[in-house]
Amino acid sequence: MVGICVISSRRTGVTDRLQGLEPDEALAPFVGICDGGARLDAGITIALVDTEAEAETAVRDGAHDALVWPSEAHRLVRAVLSARTAARREIDLVRYRTVFRQTAIWQELGDPDIVLLDVSDGFEAATAHTREAVVGRTPRELFRGGTHSRAFYDELTAQVERTGRWRGDMLGRRRDGSLGVLDTQIGLIRHGERTVGQYAIKREAGANRNGALQTWIDERASAQWVLVQVGGGVLEASSHVQEALGVGRDELLGRDPSVVGLTLDMPAPGGHIVGDQWLGERAFQVDVQRRLVGDMDVLHVVLLDVTTRKLEAEKLDLLAQDLAAARDQALAADRSKSAFLAAMSHELRTPLNAILGYTELLAEDAEGQTLADLDRVAVSGRHLLGLVDEILDLARIEAGAVHCELERVDARSLLEDVASTLALRVRRAGQRIEIDCDDHPVLADPQRLRQILTNLVGNATKYAVPGRILVGCRAGRVFVEDEGPGIALHQQEAIFEPFRRLHQGGVGVGLGLAVSRRLARALGTQLVVQSAPGTGSRFDLQLTIEGFEAESRAG
Ligand code: ADP
Repeated sequence: MVGICVISSRRTGVTDRLQGLEPDEALAPFVGICDGGARLDAGITIALVDTEAEAETAVRDGAHDALVWPSEAHRLVRAVLSARTAARREIDLVRYRTVFRQTAIWQELGDPDIVLLDVSDGFEAATAHTREAVVGRTPRELFRGGTHSRAFYDELTAQVERTGRWRGDMLGRRRDGSLGVLDTQIGLIRHGERTVGQYAIKREAGANRNGALQTWIDERASAQWVLVQVGGGVLEASSHVQEALGVGRDELLGRDPSVVGLTLDMPAPGGHIVGDQWLGERAFQVDVQRRLVGDMDVLHVVLLDVTTRKLEAEKLDLLAQDLAAARDQALAADRSKSAFLAAMSHELRTPLNAILGYTELLAEDAEGQTLADLDRVAVSGRHLLGLVDEILDLARIEAGAVHCELERVDARSLLEDVASTLALRVRRAGQRIEIDCDDHPVLADPQRLRQILTNLVGNATKYAVPGRILVGCRAGRVFVEDEGPGIALHQQEAIFEPFRRLHQGGVGVGLGLAVSRRLARALGTQLVVQSAPGTGSRFDLQLTIEGFEAESRAG
Protein backbone atom coordinates (compact mmCIF):
# COMPACT_ATOMS: atom_id res chain seq x y z
CA MET A 1 0.00 0.00 0.00
CA VAL A 2 1.19 3.41 -0.83
CA GLY A 3 0.13 6.23 1.37
CA ILE A 4 0.32 9.79 0.28
CA CYS A 5 -0.26 12.71 2.45
CA VAL A 6 -1.36 15.75 0.56
CA ILE A 7 -1.08 19.04 2.20
CA SER A 8 -4.05 20.91 1.13
CA SER A 9 -6.90 22.92 2.44
CA ARG A 10 -10.47 23.28 1.64
CA ARG A 11 -9.91 26.88 2.18
CA THR A 12 -7.07 27.03 -0.38
CA GLY A 13 -9.25 25.15 -2.91
CA VAL A 14 -6.51 22.70 -3.97
CA THR A 15 -8.97 19.92 -4.62
CA ASP A 16 -11.14 22.12 -6.75
CA ARG A 17 -8.10 23.12 -8.76
CA LEU A 18 -7.08 19.55 -9.34
CA GLN A 19 -10.56 18.56 -10.37
CA GLY A 20 -10.60 21.40 -12.79
CA LEU A 21 -7.33 20.37 -14.35
CA GLU A 22 -7.89 16.59 -14.94
CA PRO A 23 -11.49 15.60 -15.32
CA ASP A 24 -10.61 12.03 -16.39
CA GLU A 25 -9.71 8.79 -14.55
CA ALA A 26 -6.49 10.29 -13.20
CA LEU A 27 -8.59 12.39 -10.92
CA ALA A 28 -10.48 9.48 -9.45
CA PRO A 29 -8.04 8.94 -6.53
CA PHE A 30 -8.73 12.44 -5.42
CA VAL A 31 -12.45 12.13 -5.24
CA GLY A 32 -12.23 11.08 -1.64
CA ILE A 33 -10.04 13.97 -0.72
CA CYS A 34 -12.95 16.24 -0.24
CA ASP A 35 -14.30 13.88 2.34
CA GLY A 36 -11.18 14.13 4.42
CA GLY A 37 -9.23 11.08 3.14
CA ALA A 38 -10.06 7.63 1.75
CA ARG A 39 -8.63 4.33 0.60
CA LEU A 40 -8.97 4.26 -3.15
CA ASP A 41 -9.19 1.47 -5.74
CA ALA A 42 -5.57 1.74 -6.69
CA GLY A 43 -4.55 0.93 -3.12
CA ILE A 44 -3.45 4.47 -2.46
CA THR A 45 -4.42 6.15 0.73
CA ILE A 46 -4.59 9.85 0.72
CA ALA A 47 -4.85 11.95 3.79
CA LEU A 48 -5.89 15.54 3.61
CA VAL A 49 -4.26 17.96 5.98
CA ASP A 50 -4.73 21.68 6.26
CA THR A 51 -1.66 22.68 8.19
CA GLU A 52 1.97 21.74 8.44
CA ALA A 53 1.41 20.52 11.98
CA GLU A 54 -1.32 18.12 10.78
CA ALA A 55 1.00 16.90 8.05
CA GLU A 56 3.76 16.18 10.50
CA THR A 57 1.42 14.15 12.66
CA ALA A 58 0.13 12.18 9.65
CA VAL A 59 3.61 11.21 8.51
CA ARG A 60 4.73 10.36 12.01
CA ASP A 61 1.78 7.99 12.41
CA GLY A 62 3.39 5.89 9.68
CA ALA A 63 0.22 5.65 7.65
CA HIS A 64 1.69 7.56 4.77
CA ASP A 65 4.87 7.14 2.82
CA ALA A 66 5.04 10.45 1.10
CA LEU A 67 4.30 14.00 1.70
CA VAL A 68 3.59 16.00 -1.39
CA TRP A 69 2.35 19.38 -2.23
CA PRO A 70 -0.85 19.48 -4.19
CA SER A 71 0.93 20.57 -7.35
CA GLU A 72 2.89 17.24 -7.42
CA ALA A 73 0.11 14.98 -6.24
CA HIS A 74 -1.39 14.30 -9.66
CA ARG A 75 1.90 13.22 -11.30
CA LEU A 76 2.77 11.00 -8.38
CA VAL A 77 -0.54 9.17 -8.37
CA ARG A 78 -0.24 8.47 -12.08
CA ALA A 79 3.24 7.01 -11.62
CA VAL A 80 2.02 4.78 -8.83
CA LEU A 81 -0.93 3.54 -10.91
CA SER A 82 1.30 2.75 -13.88
CA ALA A 83 3.78 0.83 -11.71
CA ARG A 84 0.94 -1.15 -10.26
CA THR A 85 -0.40 -2.08 -13.73
CA ALA A 86 3.05 -3.24 -14.78
CA ALA A 87 3.37 -5.31 -11.63
CA ARG A 88 0.03 -6.99 -12.32
CA ARG A 89 1.11 -7.85 -15.84
CA GLU A 90 4.31 -9.31 -14.52
CA ILE A 91 2.37 -11.45 -12.06
CA ASP A 92 0.10 -12.69 -14.90
CA LEU A 93 3.08 -13.70 -17.00
CA VAL A 94 4.81 -15.44 -14.13
CA ARG A 95 1.63 -17.37 -13.37
CA TYR A 96 1.21 -18.21 -17.03
CA ARG A 97 4.73 -19.47 -17.31
CA THR A 98 4.44 -21.54 -14.18
CA VAL A 99 1.42 -23.31 -15.56
CA PHE A 100 2.61 -23.80 -19.11
CA ARG A 101 6.17 -24.75 -18.31
CA GLN A 102 4.57 -27.91 -17.02
CA THR A 103 2.80 -28.73 -20.26
CA ALA A 104 4.47 -30.99 -22.73
CA ILE A 105 5.81 -28.49 -25.18
CA TRP A 106 5.06 -24.89 -25.61
CA GLN A 107 6.51 -21.84 -27.02
CA GLU A 108 5.64 -18.29 -26.35
CA LEU A 109 5.59 -15.95 -29.25
CA GLY A 110 6.14 -12.27 -28.87
CA ASP A 111 3.69 -9.88 -30.39
CA PRO A 112 3.82 -8.47 -33.00
CA ASP A 113 7.16 -9.61 -34.43
CA ILE A 114 6.70 -13.21 -33.22
CA VAL A 115 10.02 -13.49 -31.52
CA LEU A 116 10.19 -16.28 -28.99
CA LEU A 117 10.00 -14.93 -25.45
CA ASP A 118 10.20 -18.17 -23.58
CA VAL A 119 9.83 -21.90 -24.09
CA SER A 120 9.00 -24.79 -21.83
CA ASP A 121 11.13 -27.76 -20.84
CA GLY A 122 9.00 -29.98 -23.05
CA PHE A 123 9.76 -27.74 -25.99
CA GLU A 124 13.46 -28.20 -25.36
CA ALA A 125 13.04 -31.95 -25.24
CA ALA A 126 11.00 -32.15 -28.43
CA THR A 127 12.99 -29.81 -30.61
CA ALA A 128 16.47 -30.26 -29.12
CA HIS A 129 16.78 -26.45 -29.03
CA THR A 130 17.79 -25.00 -25.65
CA ARG A 131 15.88 -22.13 -24.08
CA GLU A 132 18.91 -19.81 -24.23
CA ALA A 133 19.36 -20.54 -27.92
CA VAL A 134 15.81 -19.78 -28.98
CA VAL A 135 14.72 -16.78 -26.91
CA GLY A 136 14.77 -13.71 -29.10
CA ARG A 137 14.71 -15.64 -32.39
CA THR A 138 11.81 -16.18 -34.79
CA PRO A 139 10.21 -19.61 -35.22
CA ARG A 140 10.82 -19.39 -38.93
CA GLU A 141 14.59 -19.18 -38.66
CA LEU A 142 14.62 -21.89 -36.01
CA PHE A 143 12.42 -24.47 -37.63
CA ARG A 144 13.35 -23.75 -41.22
CA GLY A 145 9.98 -25.24 -42.03
CA GLY A 146 9.40 -23.52 -45.31
CA THR A 147 6.99 -26.36 -45.88
CA HIS A 148 3.86 -24.30 -45.51
CA SER A 149 2.81 -21.69 -47.99
CA ARG A 150 2.57 -17.96 -47.41
CA ALA A 151 -1.20 -18.27 -47.84
CA PHE A 152 -1.31 -20.86 -45.06
CA TYR A 153 0.36 -18.46 -42.60
CA ASP A 154 -1.84 -15.55 -43.73
CA GLU A 155 -4.94 -17.63 -43.12
CA LEU A 156 -3.60 -18.71 -39.72
CA THR A 157 -2.88 -15.11 -38.70
CA ALA A 158 -6.27 -13.93 -39.91
CA GLN A 159 -7.99 -16.61 -37.87
CA VAL A 160 -6.01 -15.77 -34.75
CA GLU A 161 -6.95 -12.13 -35.15
CA ARG A 162 -10.58 -12.99 -35.79
CA THR A 163 -11.20 -15.65 -33.18
CA GLY A 164 -8.21 -15.38 -30.89
CA ARG A 165 -7.12 -18.96 -31.53
CA TRP A 166 -5.95 -21.51 -34.12
CA ARG A 167 -5.33 -25.23 -33.96
CA GLY A 168 -3.88 -27.58 -36.56
CA ASP A 169 -0.88 -29.63 -37.67
CA MET A 170 2.31 -27.91 -38.71
CA LEU A 171 5.48 -29.38 -40.10
CA GLY A 172 8.77 -28.18 -38.71
CA ARG A 173 12.34 -29.36 -38.35
CA ARG A 174 14.10 -30.30 -35.15
CA ARG A 175 17.60 -29.07 -34.40
CA ASP A 176 19.03 -32.19 -36.07
CA GLY A 177 17.05 -31.38 -39.21
CA SER A 178 14.54 -34.23 -38.85
CA LEU A 179 10.94 -33.48 -39.67
CA GLY A 180 8.41 -33.20 -36.87
CA VAL A 181 4.67 -32.88 -37.02
CA LEU A 182 3.33 -30.64 -34.29
CA ASP A 183 -0.24 -30.34 -33.24
CA THR A 184 -0.25 -26.61 -32.76
CA GLN A 185 -2.52 -24.31 -30.82
CA ILE A 186 -2.14 -20.58 -30.97
CA GLY A 187 -4.00 -18.24 -28.66
CA LEU A 188 -3.90 -14.54 -27.83
CA ILE A 189 -3.54 -13.42 -24.23
CA ARG A 190 -5.18 -10.07 -23.73
CA HIS A 191 -4.73 -7.72 -20.86
CA GLY A 192 -7.39 -5.09 -20.59
CA GLU A 193 -7.72 -3.56 -24.00
CA ARG A 194 -4.21 -4.50 -25.09
CA THR A 195 -2.81 -7.70 -26.46
CA VAL A 196 0.23 -8.26 -24.36
CA GLY A 197 1.28 -11.65 -25.63
CA GLN A 198 0.67 -14.19 -28.34
CA TYR A 199 1.31 -17.76 -27.36
CA ALA A 200 1.52 -21.02 -29.19
CA ILE A 201 1.42 -24.29 -27.37
CA LYS A 202 2.70 -27.20 -29.34
CA ARG A 203 2.58 -30.83 -28.55
CA GLU A 204 4.22 -33.63 -30.45
CA ALA A 205 1.33 -34.54 -32.70
CA GLY A 206 1.83 -38.27 -32.32
CA ALA A 207 0.06 -38.23 -29.02
CA ASN A 208 -3.27 -36.87 -30.19
CA ARG A 209 -5.97 -37.02 -32.81
CA ASN A 210 -4.02 -35.09 -35.46
CA GLY A 211 -0.97 -37.21 -35.10
CA ALA A 212 -1.46 -39.59 -38.02
CA LEU A 213 1.65 -38.47 -39.86
CA GLN A 214 3.87 -38.39 -36.77
CA THR A 215 2.60 -41.82 -35.75
CA TRP A 216 3.27 -42.94 -39.29
CA ILE A 217 6.87 -41.67 -39.02
CA ASP A 218 7.40 -43.14 -35.55
CA GLU A 219 6.01 -46.55 -36.42
CA ARG A 220 8.35 -46.82 -39.36
CA ALA A 221 11.49 -45.94 -37.47
CA SER A 222 13.38 -48.87 -38.96
CA ALA A 223 11.58 -48.98 -42.33
CA GLN A 224 12.59 -47.50 -45.67
CA TRP A 225 10.30 -44.57 -46.38
CA VAL A 226 10.11 -41.14 -47.93
CA LEU A 227 7.66 -38.30 -47.47
CA VAL A 228 7.09 -36.41 -50.67
CA GLN A 229 5.28 -33.14 -51.13
CA VAL A 230 2.89 -33.33 -54.05
CA GLY A 231 4.26 -30.98 -56.69
CA GLY A 232 7.45 -30.55 -54.65
CA GLY A 233 10.33 -32.72 -53.56
CA VAL A 234 11.19 -35.13 -50.77
CA LEU A 235 10.31 -33.62 -47.40
CA GLU A 236 11.83 -36.34 -45.28
CA ALA A 237 13.23 -39.82 -45.58
CA SER A 238 14.28 -42.49 -43.13
CA SER A 239 17.97 -43.15 -42.63
CA HIS A 240 17.35 -46.68 -43.97
CA VAL A 241 16.23 -45.40 -47.33
CA GLN A 242 19.78 -45.54 -48.63
CA GLU A 243 19.51 -49.35 -48.65
CA ALA A 244 16.73 -49.09 -51.21
CA LEU A 245 17.54 -46.01 -53.24
CA GLY A 246 21.33 -46.00 -53.02
CA VAL A 247 21.41 -42.36 -51.87
CA GLY A 248 21.16 -41.07 -48.33
CA ARG A 249 18.45 -38.98 -46.74
CA ASP A 250 20.41 -35.72 -46.92
CA GLU A 251 20.93 -36.05 -50.65
CA LEU A 252 17.26 -36.79 -51.19
CA LEU A 253 15.75 -33.86 -49.31
CA GLY A 254 14.04 -31.40 -51.63
CA ARG A 255 14.63 -33.55 -54.74
CA ASP A 256 12.15 -35.26 -56.98
CA PRO A 257 12.13 -39.02 -56.20
CA SER A 258 12.28 -39.79 -59.92
CA VAL A 259 15.94 -38.66 -59.98
CA VAL A 260 16.77 -41.88 -58.12
CA GLY A 261 14.50 -43.94 -60.35
CA LEU A 262 11.52 -44.10 -58.02
CA THR A 263 8.28 -43.71 -59.96
CA LEU A 264 5.30 -42.91 -57.78
CA ASP A 265 1.70 -43.55 -58.64
CA MET A 266 -0.57 -40.70 -57.61
CA PRO A 267 -3.54 -41.84 -55.51
CA ALA A 268 -6.59 -39.60 -55.11
CA PRO A 269 -6.44 -37.42 -51.95
CA GLY A 270 -6.86 -39.77 -48.97
CA GLY A 271 -6.24 -42.72 -51.28
CA HIS A 272 -3.75 -45.54 -51.36
CA ILE A 273 -1.89 -47.43 -54.14
CA VAL A 274 0.43 -50.41 -53.76
CA GLY A 275 2.58 -51.78 -56.56
CA ASP A 276 5.88 -53.53 -57.23
CA GLN A 277 8.86 -51.82 -58.81
CA TRP A 278 12.40 -52.84 -59.72
CA LEU A 279 15.12 -50.45 -58.56
CA GLY A 280 18.32 -51.73 -60.11
CA GLU A 281 18.90 -55.31 -59.10
CA ARG A 282 16.22 -55.36 -56.44
CA ALA A 283 12.44 -55.34 -56.38
CA PHE A 284 10.36 -53.29 -53.95
CA GLN A 285 6.76 -53.16 -52.98
CA VAL A 286 5.97 -49.42 -53.12
CA ASP A 287 3.10 -48.41 -50.88
CA VAL A 288 1.91 -44.84 -51.53
CA GLN A 289 -0.63 -43.08 -49.30
CA ARG A 290 -1.78 -39.51 -49.98
CA ARG A 291 -2.68 -37.27 -47.01
CA LEU A 292 -3.28 -33.65 -46.16
CA VAL A 293 -1.26 -32.20 -43.25
CA GLY A 294 -2.44 -28.66 -42.68
CA ASP A 295 -2.45 -27.32 -46.23
CA MET A 296 0.30 -29.74 -47.23
CA ASP A 297 -0.48 -32.45 -49.72
CA VAL A 298 1.97 -35.27 -48.95
CA LEU A 299 2.68 -38.78 -50.15
CA HIS A 300 3.78 -41.32 -47.55
CA VAL A 301 5.86 -43.85 -49.43
CA VAL A 302 7.06 -47.09 -47.82
CA LEU A 303 9.45 -49.38 -49.66
CA LEU A 304 9.56 -53.06 -48.86
CA ASP A 305 12.24 -55.30 -50.36
CA VAL A 306 10.44 -58.11 -52.15
CA THR A 307 13.30 -59.24 -54.39
CA THR A 308 13.22 -62.84 -53.13
CA ARG A 309 9.47 -63.12 -53.53
CA LYS A 310 9.65 -61.52 -56.99
CA LEU A 311 12.43 -63.84 -58.17
CA GLU A 312 10.55 -66.87 -56.84
CA ALA A 313 7.37 -65.66 -58.55
CA GLU A 314 9.25 -65.15 -61.81
CA LYS A 315 10.72 -68.63 -61.56
CA LEU A 316 7.26 -70.01 -60.91
CA ASP A 317 5.90 -68.04 -63.86
CA LEU A 318 8.59 -69.49 -66.11
CA LEU A 319 7.87 -72.95 -64.75
CA ALA A 320 4.15 -72.46 -65.31
CA GLN A 321 4.85 -71.29 -68.87
CA ASP A 322 7.07 -74.36 -69.47
CA LEU A 323 4.39 -76.60 -68.04
CA ALA A 324 1.70 -74.97 -70.12
CA ALA A 325 3.87 -75.36 -73.23
CA ALA A 326 4.55 -79.01 -72.36
CA ARG A 327 0.85 -79.61 -71.76
CA ASP A 328 -0.06 -77.95 -75.07
CA GLN A 329 2.53 -80.06 -76.81
CA ALA A 330 1.22 -83.21 -75.18
CA LEU A 331 -2.35 -82.31 -76.08
CA ALA A 332 -1.33 -81.51 -79.62
CA ALA A 333 0.56 -84.82 -79.82
CA ASP A 334 -2.45 -86.61 -78.39
CA ARG A 335 -4.77 -84.94 -80.88
CA SER A 336 -2.52 -85.81 -83.79
CA LYS A 337 -2.17 -89.36 -82.50
CA SER A 338 -5.97 -89.67 -82.31
CA ALA A 339 -6.32 -88.12 -85.76
CA PHE A 340 -3.67 -90.48 -87.09
CA LEU A 341 -5.35 -93.50 -85.52
CA ALA A 342 -8.75 -92.49 -86.83
CA ALA A 343 -7.36 -91.98 -90.32
CA MET A 344 -5.35 -95.20 -90.26
CA SER A 345 -8.25 -97.23 -88.91
CA HIS A 346 -10.44 -95.98 -91.70
CA GLU A 347 -7.76 -96.77 -94.24
CA LEU A 348 -7.41 -100.28 -92.77
CA ARG A 349 -11.13 -101.01 -92.67
CA THR A 350 -11.72 -100.43 -96.35
CA PRO A 351 -9.23 -103.05 -97.67
CA LEU A 352 -10.09 -105.42 -94.81
CA ASN A 353 -13.76 -105.34 -95.72
CA ALA A 354 -12.75 -106.01 -99.29
CA ILE A 355 -10.64 -109.00 -98.23
CA LEU A 356 -13.47 -110.39 -96.09
CA GLY A 357 -16.02 -109.83 -98.86
CA TYR A 358 -13.94 -111.59 -101.52
CA THR A 359 -13.06 -114.42 -99.09
CA GLU A 360 -16.75 -115.08 -98.51
CA LEU A 361 -17.34 -114.94 -102.25
CA LEU A 362 -14.57 -117.49 -102.94
CA ALA A 363 -15.78 -119.69 -100.06
CA GLU A 364 -19.15 -120.07 -101.76
CA ASP A 365 -17.57 -122.17 -104.52
CA ALA A 366 -14.71 -123.70 -102.54
CA GLU A 367 -14.49 -127.03 -100.84
CA GLY A 368 -12.06 -129.24 -99.00
CA GLN A 369 -8.70 -127.75 -98.01
CA THR A 370 -9.38 -124.53 -99.95
CA LEU A 371 -12.58 -123.93 -97.93
CA ALA A 372 -10.72 -124.60 -94.66
CA ASP A 373 -7.99 -122.16 -95.70
CA LEU A 374 -10.52 -119.51 -96.70
CA ASP A 375 -12.25 -119.97 -93.31
CA ARG A 376 -8.94 -119.24 -91.55
CA VAL A 377 -8.48 -116.16 -93.72
CA ALA A 378 -12.01 -115.02 -92.79
CA VAL A 379 -11.48 -115.63 -89.01
CA SER A 380 -8.21 -113.72 -89.02
CA GLY A 381 -9.74 -110.95 -91.11
CA ARG A 382 -12.68 -110.57 -88.74
CA HIS A 383 -10.33 -110.48 -85.77
CA LEU A 384 -8.29 -107.81 -87.45
CA LEU A 385 -11.48 -105.87 -88.22
CA GLY A 386 -12.49 -106.12 -84.52
CA LEU A 387 -9.16 -104.61 -83.47
CA VAL A 388 -9.42 -101.86 -86.05
CA ASP A 389 -12.93 -101.10 -84.75
CA GLU A 390 -11.64 -100.78 -81.17
CA ILE A 391 -8.81 -98.49 -82.27
CA LEU A 392 -11.28 -96.43 -84.23
CA ASP A 393 -13.58 -96.20 -81.19
CA LEU A 394 -10.81 -95.09 -78.87
CA ALA A 395 -9.59 -92.51 -81.36
CA ARG A 396 -13.12 -91.20 -81.83
CA ILE A 397 -13.76 -90.97 -78.09
CA GLU A 398 -10.50 -89.18 -77.47
CA ALA A 399 -11.22 -86.78 -80.29
CA GLY A 400 -14.52 -86.04 -78.53
CA ALA A 401 -16.47 -87.32 -81.48
CA VAL A 402 -18.66 -89.74 -79.51
CA HIS A 403 -21.98 -88.37 -78.32
CA CYS A 404 -24.37 -90.39 -76.22
CA GLU A 405 -28.12 -90.07 -76.53
CA LEU A 406 -29.62 -91.16 -73.22
CA GLU A 407 -32.91 -92.98 -73.36
CA ARG A 408 -34.97 -95.43 -71.40
CA VAL A 409 -33.41 -98.87 -71.73
CA ASP A 410 -34.86 -102.17 -70.65
CA ALA A 411 -31.77 -103.57 -68.90
CA ARG A 412 -32.95 -107.16 -68.82
CA SER A 413 -33.56 -107.50 -72.54
CA LEU A 414 -30.26 -105.76 -73.30
CA LEU A 415 -28.37 -108.17 -71.00
CA GLU A 416 -30.11 -111.17 -72.56
CA ASP A 417 -29.19 -109.87 -75.97
CA VAL A 418 -25.50 -109.57 -75.06
CA ALA A 419 -25.54 -113.02 -73.45
CA SER A 420 -27.05 -114.65 -76.54
CA THR A 421 -24.54 -112.91 -78.84
CA LEU A 422 -21.66 -114.34 -76.84
CA ALA A 423 -23.34 -117.64 -76.00
CA LEU A 424 -21.16 -119.68 -78.37
CA ARG A 425 -17.89 -118.27 -76.97
CA VAL A 426 -19.12 -118.78 -73.43
CA ARG A 427 -20.03 -122.39 -74.10
CA ARG A 428 -16.68 -123.04 -75.80
CA ALA A 429 -14.90 -121.64 -72.72
CA GLY A 430 -16.78 -124.14 -70.56
CA GLN A 431 -18.68 -121.37 -68.82
CA ARG A 432 -22.29 -120.45 -68.25
CA ILE A 433 -24.00 -117.03 -68.04
CA GLU A 434 -26.53 -116.20 -65.35
CA ILE A 435 -28.62 -113.04 -65.43
CA ASP A 436 -29.70 -111.26 -62.24
CA CYS A 437 -31.89 -108.29 -63.09
CA ASP A 438 -34.69 -106.23 -61.52
CA ASP A 439 -37.31 -104.49 -63.62
CA HIS A 440 -36.03 -100.91 -63.27
CA PRO A 441 -35.40 -99.45 -66.67
CA VAL A 442 -32.15 -97.46 -66.81
CA LEU A 443 -31.18 -94.24 -68.54
CA ALA A 444 -28.47 -94.99 -71.11
CA ASP A 445 -27.39 -94.98 -74.71
CA PRO A 446 -28.28 -98.62 -75.56
CA GLN A 447 -25.66 -99.00 -78.25
CA ARG A 448 -22.83 -97.80 -75.97
CA LEU A 449 -24.08 -99.82 -73.00
CA ARG A 450 -24.19 -102.92 -75.21
CA GLN A 451 -20.61 -102.25 -76.33
CA ILE A 452 -19.39 -101.96 -72.70
CA LEU A 453 -21.18 -105.14 -71.61
CA THR A 454 -19.91 -107.05 -74.65
CA ASN A 455 -16.34 -106.06 -73.71
CA LEU A 456 -16.79 -107.05 -70.06
CA VAL A 457 -18.46 -110.40 -70.76
CA GLY A 458 -15.94 -110.99 -73.57
CA ASN A 459 -13.08 -110.47 -71.06
CA ALA A 460 -14.74 -112.81 -68.57
CA THR A 461 -14.80 -115.53 -71.22
CA LYS A 462 -11.19 -114.74 -72.23
CA TYR A 463 -9.54 -114.56 -68.82
CA ALA A 464 -11.77 -116.47 -66.38
CA VAL A 465 -11.64 -120.23 -65.76
CA PRO A 466 -14.63 -122.42 -66.54
CA GLY A 467 -17.45 -121.47 -64.23
CA ARG A 468 -20.23 -118.96 -63.84
CA ILE A 469 -20.40 -115.48 -65.33
CA LEU A 470 -23.00 -113.41 -63.55
CA VAL A 471 -24.35 -110.37 -65.38
CA GLY A 472 -27.07 -108.19 -63.96
CA CYS A 473 -28.65 -104.88 -63.18
CA ARG A 474 -30.07 -103.98 -59.79
CA ALA A 475 -31.40 -100.48 -59.00
CA GLY A 476 -29.52 -99.13 -62.01
CA ARG A 477 -26.22 -100.80 -61.00
CA VAL A 478 -24.96 -102.88 -63.92
CA PHE A 479 -22.35 -105.55 -63.21
CA VAL A 480 -20.38 -108.42 -64.72
CA GLU A 481 -18.85 -110.91 -62.30
CA ASP A 482 -16.60 -113.87 -63.04
CA GLU A 483 -14.77 -116.56 -61.10
CA GLY A 484 -11.46 -116.03 -62.86
CA PRO A 485 -7.90 -115.32 -61.67
CA GLY A 486 -8.73 -111.87 -60.34
CA ILE A 487 -6.58 -108.72 -60.60
CA ALA A 488 -4.09 -107.48 -57.98
CA LEU A 489 -4.99 -104.20 -56.30
CA HIS A 490 -2.01 -102.30 -57.69
CA GLN A 491 -3.01 -103.24 -61.24
CA GLN A 492 -6.67 -102.40 -60.98
CA GLU A 493 -6.24 -98.89 -62.41
CA ALA A 494 -3.62 -99.87 -64.98
CA ILE A 495 -5.97 -102.23 -66.82
CA PHE A 496 -8.03 -99.21 -67.93
CA GLU A 497 -5.06 -97.62 -69.72
CA PRO A 498 -4.90 -98.14 -73.50
CA PHE A 499 -2.71 -101.05 -74.67
CA ARG A 500 -2.13 -102.25 -71.09
CA ARG A 501 -2.41 -106.03 -70.78
CA LEU A 502 -1.74 -108.21 -67.77
CA HIS A 503 -1.97 -111.42 -69.72
CA GLN A 504 0.34 -111.63 -72.69
CA GLY A 505 -0.69 -113.69 -75.69
CA GLY A 506 -4.28 -114.55 -76.48
CA VAL A 507 -6.69 -112.41 -78.37
CA GLY A 508 -6.64 -108.66 -77.74
CA VAL A 509 -4.43 -105.59 -77.74
CA GLY A 510 -5.45 -104.02 -74.42
CA LEU A 511 -8.06 -101.58 -75.68
CA GLY A 512 -11.39 -103.09 -74.51
CA LEU A 513 -11.37 -101.69 -70.94
CA ALA A 514 -9.89 -98.35 -72.03
CA VAL A 515 -12.73 -97.93 -74.53
CA SER A 516 -15.32 -99.18 -72.01
CA ARG A 517 -14.25 -96.74 -69.28
CA ARG A 518 -14.38 -93.80 -71.70
CA LEU A 519 -17.78 -94.87 -72.96
CA ALA A 520 -19.02 -95.14 -69.36
CA ARG A 521 -17.76 -91.58 -68.80
CA ALA A 522 -19.64 -90.45 -71.90
CA LEU A 523 -22.75 -92.00 -70.31
CA GLY A 524 -22.11 -89.86 -67.24
CA THR A 525 -20.89 -92.67 -64.99
CA GLN A 526 -17.73 -94.55 -64.03
CA LEU A 527 -16.65 -98.10 -64.70
CA VAL A 528 -14.96 -99.59 -61.63
CA VAL A 529 -13.48 -102.97 -60.73
CA GLN A 530 -13.43 -104.94 -57.51
CA SER A 531 -11.15 -107.92 -57.47
CA ALA A 532 -8.53 -109.87 -55.57
CA PRO A 533 -6.20 -112.51 -56.98
CA GLY A 534 -7.85 -115.95 -56.94
CA THR A 535 -11.36 -114.69 -56.14
CA GLY A 536 -12.60 -113.51 -59.51
CA SER A 537 -13.45 -109.97 -60.67
CA ARG A 538 -16.50 -107.80 -60.70
CA PHE A 539 -16.93 -104.75 -62.95
CA ASP A 540 -19.64 -102.22 -62.04
CA LEU A 541 -21.20 -99.10 -63.42
CA GLN A 542 -24.02 -97.13 -61.85
CA LEU A 543 -26.68 -95.84 -64.21
CA THR A 544 -29.34 -93.39 -63.20
CA ILE A 545 -32.95 -94.44 -62.80
CA GLU A 546 -34.20 -91.35 -60.96
CA GLY A 547 -34.52 -88.91 -63.81
CA PHE A 548 -36.23 -91.59 -65.69
CA GLU A 549 -38.80 -92.21 -62.95
CA ALA A 550 -39.48 -88.51 -62.73
CA GLU A 551 -40.01 -88.49 -66.47
CA SER A 552 -42.45 -91.40 -66.36
CA ARG A 553 -44.32 -89.81 -63.48
CA ALA A 554 -44.59 -86.58 -65.42
CA GLY A 555 -45.84 -88.57 -68.43
P1 ADP B 1 -7.55 -106.96 -73.86
O1 ADP B 1 -8.65 -107.85 -73.37
O2 ADP B 1 -7.64 -106.65 -75.29
O3 ADP B 1 -6.22 -107.36 -73.42
P2 ADP B 1 -8.72 -105.09 -72.06
O4 ADP B 1 -8.52 -103.60 -72.01
O5 ADP B 1 -10.10 -105.55 -72.23
O6 ADP B 1 -7.76 -105.56 -73.19
O7 ADP B 1 -8.12 -105.68 -70.74
C1 ADP B 1 -6.85 -105.25 -70.27
C2 ADP B 1 -6.22 -106.34 -69.43
O8 ADP B 1 -6.94 -106.51 -68.22
C3 ADP B 1 -6.30 -107.67 -70.06
O9 ADP B 1 -5.19 -107.89 -70.92
C4 ADP B 1 -6.27 -108.59 -68.86
O10 ADP B 1 -4.94 -108.83 -68.49
C5 ADP B 1 -6.93 -107.82 -67.78
N1 ADP B 1 -8.34 -108.27 -67.59
C6 ADP B 1 -9.42 -107.71 -68.18
N2 ADP B 1 -10.56 -108.32 -67.75
C7 ADP B 1 -10.18 -109.28 -66.87
C8 ADP B 1 -10.86 -110.25 -66.07
N3 ADP B 1 -12.20 -110.39 -66.11
N4 ADP B 1 -10.12 -111.07 -65.27
C9 ADP B 1 -8.78 -110.92 -65.23
N5 ADP B 1 -8.06 -110.05 -65.93
C10 ADP B 1 -8.76 -109.24 -66.77
